Amino acid sequence: MPELPEVETIVRGLRENTVGNRIESLTELRNNTIIYHTNQCAEGLVFSSLSRRGKYILINLSDILTMVIHLRMTGKLVYTETEQLTPHTRAVIKFADRTMLQFEDIRTFGSIQIFEANDTDPAIKRLGPEPLTEDFNEKYLYKVLEKAKAPIKSILLNQEIIAGLGNIYVCEILYRTKIHPTLAGKELTRADIIRVITATKEVLAEAILHNGTSISDFRNIDDKPGEFQNFLRVYQKKECPLGHPTERIKIAGRSTYFCPVCQRLK
Ligand SMILES: [Zn+2]
Repeated sequence: MPELPEVETIVRGLRENTVGNRIESLTELRNNTIIYHTNQCAEGLVFSSLSRRGKYILINLSDILTMVIHLRMTGKLVYTETEQLTPHTRAVIKFADRTMLQFEDIRTFGSIQIFEANDTDPAIKRLGPEPLTEDFNEKYLYKVLEKAKAPIKSILLNQEIIAGLGNIYVCEILYRTKIHPTLAGKELTRADIIRVITATKEVLAEAILHNGTSISDFRNIDDKPGEFQNFLRVYQKKECPLGHPTERIKIAGRSTYFCPVCQRLK
């Protein structure tokens, strides 16, 4: 599932290639892929600017509409000059310059939503702070964790607490902080909290630098894989970088990798 660094990589690729492109047609190849929350149609409008919020891609269309793309589990965007439809192509945006953006989605959980410019997905309004901004700081995280009984792993995965983290990066962040993933939020010390904030920002920045992680099927819009899978320390690893055998447990149904030596329970 694409997490913050993968979505950021896609947004940067799209920004480089599609800003200024006029939408000639927007075609849905599978029902309920493109969802309109307005009567205004997107044809004829221009990709004016692109941004990311959590794992959502936001495209400003001529300051009139906002296109919100959520890739969910398996969604993928392919920017191409020649139509390359696959059995999983759910929608195609054709631009006036003959290039196109294809939306592929094997599991079909992803979507393209169209809102008025001043409106957006209610789920986006509920997102917690962006981890790479100043809003994600010691004071904020201390307040969130103060009374939290849930495991730190689940808390960091909660999009309403911090936007954009998923299973891979939370495993990596906790490994770097030496915190056991089942430790209750309220058990973290001030020093732990500072370590979580620092490790979060570091892991995400490094992953963006390496164009994301391609463990399953993540591809950039030019179909190139990311490289950060080569730098993972614990996720899907048999040993941590110090040679200790890792363990895998389920927390809230998600496979959690950690090192029982480096990340001892207090
Ligand atoms: Zn270890």
